[in-house]
Amino acid sequence: MYYNKLMERKKKISIIGSTGSIGTQALEVISKLQDKFEIIALAGGNNIDLLLEQAEKFKPKYICCNKIENHKILKQVQNDKNFQWKILHGTEGLEEICSNRENDIILVACSGKIGLKPTLKAIENGIDIALANKETLVMAGDIVMEKARKNNVKIIPVDSEHSAIHQCIKDIAQVEKLIITASGGPFLKKTIEEMKSATVEQTLAHPRWNMGKKITVDSATLMNKGLEIIEAHHLFGIDYDDIEVVIHPQSIVHSAIEYKDGSVIAQLGLPSMHIPIQYAISYPERFEGIKSKSFSFSEIARLDFEKPDYEKFPTVQLAFKAGRLGGTATACLNAANEEAVFAFLDGKIKLYQIYEITKKIFDEHNIIKNPTIDDIFEIDITTREKTKQLIASL
Ligand code: MG
Repeated sequence: MYYNKLMERKKKISIIGSTGSIGTQALEVISKLQDKFEIIALAGGNNIDLLLEQAEKFKPKYICCNKIENHKILKQVQNDKNFQWKILHGTEGLEEICSNRENDIILVACSGKIGLKPTLKAIENGIDIALANKETLVMAGDIVMEKARKNNVKIIPVDSEHSAIHQCIKDIAQVEKLIITASGGPFLKKTIEEMKSATVEQTLAHPRWNMGKKITVDSATLMNKGLEIIEAHHLFGIDYDDIEVVIHPQSIVHSAIEYKDGSVIAQLGLPSMHIPIQYAISYPERFEGIKSKSFSFSEIARLDFEKPDYEKFPTVQLAFKAGRLGGTATACLNAANEEAVFAFLDGKIKLYQIYEITKKIFDEHNIIKNPTIDDIFEIDITTREKTKQLIASL
């Protein structure tokens, strides 16, 4: 009822991370649905030219950049061209956007921990979230979901797997287990030895999805799946014992659920992020939008499934362990892994060392059972320092 009323007018949306992979694809979706959405704010990172281009096209009320130097550039352009935006910057800028109750929904599409505080701010203000930022739930899932429940805020996942589960679930109480699919990344058919000598270029050549660098490396090690398990646990309130990972190289079945009576419901679609992005920002409605072609089972012809090889991809079980331990364990896992991934991208370590380093740092972590947000940020910082020191000592 609420949404029926709402959709008589344009849905007001802000995008945190508009210049990233998800952000730009979200704007492609919105370009096709300009009669459905009005953009309140666009917040971008370092790519100031793209942010300007987006702002000129979508005419938001606010634009937000990451730092003061970029703020000055935007101000100059504003003066030259007589644009009417309010210019914001940094975390404060993001929090101002997320406190603006004019928003019906905020798409949190930035990567990294910078997404966490603005998301909490939006939840406190009763604004629904389309969530593409992994760190929000991996670092602080308990706090975020509790706050969302208290404020009656919907958290609608953007990630294809969680979007699939969201689309399949009618009654969570009747669900037996979640079945999360993984493409297996570029090394699925390679040996452990081949994986050990993998270059950055080989690692970034993902067979199915075109994504940012960090998540592409995580997909190659399967840590991405590990982080998704933790997110799924929080989003759907499902026990870790009731989450299963299955390798599905074609990325057509985006995930599934099994009900208590043995019935399995899966969500399928061509591997395009436009679909889950559009679902998340349009929910509970569906629009034709960006759909380019109709789904054809006969064209796809076959779908394969297999068990993950945990000897080759031990990251998934490390993530299960962190999830079960709870508290700050998952924030530690996330920070150590991210620093190790950056070191790999910088050519400082080999691909397989990402897991070894992450595990070593994780095993040494003293978990805080019921952390505050400040505890979580503290653990994030200290874990990153320890990880960098360990990498430097190798
Ligand atoms: Mg995913």
